[in-house]
Amino acid sequence: MPVIGIDLGTSNTCVAVVNNGRPQVILDEKGRATLPSMMSLNRKDQVFVGHMAKAQMSVEPERTIHSAKRLLGQRFNSEDVQRLLPFLTYKVTQTDNGLVGLVVDDHCFSPTEVSAAVLKKVKSLAETALREPVTQAVISVPAHFDNTQRKETKRAAEIAGLEVLRIINEPTAAALAYGFGMDAAHTIAVYDFGGGTFDISVLEIGDGIYNVLATGGDTFLGGNDFNQIVANWIIDRFRTRTRIDLADHPIAKQRILDAAEFAKIQLSTQQEVRIELLQIAPEISPSLAINDTLTRAQLDALCAPLVDRSLDICQSVFDSAGLHGENVDQIVMVGGMTRMPLIRKKVQEWFGRAPNTQINPDEAVGIGAAIQAMALDACTDDILLLDVIPLTLSIEAAGGICIPLIPKNTKVPHRVSRTFTTSRDNQESVIISIFQGEGSHTQDNIRLATFELANIRHAKRMEPRIEVSLRIDVNGILSITAVDLDSNQSQSVQIVDMNLKALDALNAQEVDAL
Ligand code: AMP
Repeated sequence: MPVIGIDLGTSNTCVAVVNNGRPQVILDEKGRATLPSMMSLNRKDQVFVGHMAKAQMSVEPERTIHSAKRLLGQRFNSEDVQRLLPFLTYKVTQTDNGLVGLVVDDHCFSPTEVSAAVLKKVKSLAETALREPVTQAVISVPAHFDNTQRKETKRAAEIAGLEVLRIINEPTAAALAYGFGMDAAHTIAVYDFGGGTFDISVLEIGDGIYNVLATGGDTFLGGNDFNQIVANWIIDRFRTRTRIDLADHPIAKQRILDAAEFAKIQLSTQQEVRIELLQIAPEISPSLAINDTLTRAQLDALCAPLVDRSLDICQSVFDSAGLHGENVDQIVMVGGMTRMPLIRKKVQEWFGRAPNTQINPDEAVGIGAAIQAMALDACTDDILLLDVIPLTLSIEAAGGICIPLIPKNTKVPHRVSRTFTTSRDNQESVIISIFQGEGSHTQDNIRLATFELANIRHAKRMEPRIEVSLRIDVNGILSITAVDLDSNQSQSVQIVDMNLKALDALNAQEVDAL
């Protein structure tokens, strides 16, 4: 039974397989290599996924769910979600557990369920093409995805009936696609600018070994942001001309977003583009229309800050790894946005050399995931991936300070242990919070888990010695175990309410630190 590779993108999803040693993208019945990562419901509650959903987008934007990947595992109140809300054309609500619910009529879907629907569609697409059942997959995620986002991706696959053999970072997958069959050792940077996320990874590759030296990125920087900037430009000009704010009109807004994306793509190959949208607000007046010309120079000026943000991330990743742009032999460009001339120009300036644009930016990640799937399926050691964690893991100490336990760019899998004790006689439990991120204080980082070491044996303060181990597996997913060092009994570790204030954590003292 074949194991497929899936690039579950914010905008598009691509599925690939290795057939007789040859990696290839699985095309749909119309020969298309990618599927829009969208789901829509019609008024009869029929669900559509992919191209059919995208077709419904401009007609019934409030019934079409897109960008679910950006909301995966996010808390409703998070800054990122709040920033995104004005640009979503469907209703988003806060669920009882504080997460994000995507609402169409009286249906409320989680972003995980929407991702599952997309994965189910590509699973069936693969089964039709390969003429056999498919139950296992390697799925790629942005290198910068945190623990929860990775777990939710895995859960989405399970709902879709796929066992995930491995979660692979997107730039690492692209490196696999680039380096497949190449022997000569060299250093590459994978600059991956997709629809919703940006990632940069630096790898040493050669002889089947893919050694990630450093990685970084932003899960809220992608092609969608370019579309929104152009859409705002159109809306602003229309407002100046008519005093009507089309941002309040969902159908008009969606048509403008589609036109903005189309214009952006056109401007990759031409110098100017006309944006014409007739009857843009028929409910106000049938004669209202948009009729603008956007030039490449204007687009570049509007979007340069987004490209600069990606280069700032490159700078910090290179700094943290002690590398320089000139150390890199090849810059591999992946993700649809890397077709934009401004991006290619600025990347060339930053690295001091022309980027490699030979590989197909839409297909490389899916192909790389398929190569990894083949290697895992065949248990071959011809390919060795040495990946890293993208964000530092820390533990909360007194005053909300984060003490790093596993620094970013540590190779996975990795395990670290710390010994804790109590600060009161007969203390029965200790609360410990783990954070992910580079900030020195908890408020600057993402709380991964707050857990309770419960049922600690009754003893004088500082007597119990409980060893807590954090393990990051090859998928970049964290698990926590604890052992009472005196009895050698494993200690119960329970994830408690994420919002619980970890007061006892302030009392927990590390024996190591004494
Ligand atoms: P991906 O997530 O890799 O599929 O990237 C999708 C993003 O790439 C979307 O925001 C597209 O609008 C953008 N994109 C695709 N083709 C082009 C192009 N020729 N020029 C500029 N942007 C593009």
